[in-house]
Amino acid sequence: MSAVIVDQLYKSYGKTRALNGVSFSVDEGELYGIIGPDGAGKSTLFRVLTTLMLADKGQAQVMGYDVVKDYRKIRDIIGYMPGKFSLYQDLTVEENLRFFATVFNTTIEENYHLIADIYKQIEPFKHRKAGKLSGGMKQKLALSCALIHKPKVLFLDEPTTGVDPVSRKEFWGMLLKLKRQGITILVSTPYMDEASLCDRIALVQAGEFLQVDTPRSVVSRYPATLLAVRSGKMHRLLGDLRDYPHVNTSFSFGTAFHVTLREGGSPDDLKAYLMQKGHSDVAIQAILPSVEDCFMLLSK
Ligand code: ADP
Repeated sequence: MSAVIVDQLYKSYGKTRALNGVSFSVDEGELYGIIGPDGAGKSTLFRVLTTLMLADKGQAQVMGYDVVKDYRKIRDIIGYMPGKFSLYQDLTVEENLRFFATVFNTTIEENYHLIADIYKQIEPFKHRKAGKLSGGMKQKLALSCALIHKPKVLFLDEPTTGVDPVSRKEFWGMLLKLKRQGITILVSTPYMDEASLCDRIALVQAGEFLQVDTPRSVVSRYPATLLAVRSGKMHRLLGDLRDYPHVNTSFSFGTAFHVTLREGGSPDDLKAYLMQKGHSDVAIQAILPSVEDCFMLLSK
């Protein structure tokens, strides 16, 4: 059975179209990543699926329940971690958790085993006000609160935004463990490097799904040879690359430019062209594309 089915969802805020006919489905037990930059429509999609907002058009179901008709039922069986910190800043860690447990008619004690792995890490600070926690600790508390009523489907909206790289890695480790317990997880992120940890990813931009597939297939479908280009004069390289008549795409990626060529161009010819433009130490290397490269090409 599909845990989530979305069919042609549209949502606008005035003239801004946040969702522009989105359709997809998520299998039960899947870890499904919704990957895209700020403003792509991720939060809007999550708000519709968690029954906090009505779409203008289209339909969506969570575990077979309709987001409009059956919203009460859905609220009982989902966990939601919104993008912005959602906890009560002036309640303590323990008070926040107890509050969320009570709202869902359960207790911390009853479902402690579900959150033990995660909550144990912040339990030593259980009397600290939530507003005084570090980013990584807030994230763990928010996840504990979203899990305390044993949800079947977990919606995590940009849970790692603004969190340090070590905590981000640790957080994904926790998600993989939750997945092993059979919980379906939809997680959104602007960090393309997190995509490889998902079963499937949807690349999203301007309210549209550009591609849905396993991270490996997304990368293997990259339709061109990708080149990493460097020179001793990096500051002039982008302009010169764009003047080369056979360059199809060129984007700055860390310490190099990632480039694809049109027919008629070749790495050797490009190198000769750059040398002739006064570049020295030109290095051109064919590389494997990343999810970010795929996104750049699809969204161009
Ligand atoms: P994301 O979560 O991917 O950053 P959002 O769903 O928050 O994307 O936003 C999608 C688009 O809708 C953006 O252009 C954003 O500025 C706009 N938007 C979101 N919420 C509102 C709102 N409450 N009022 C007006 N525009 C909004």
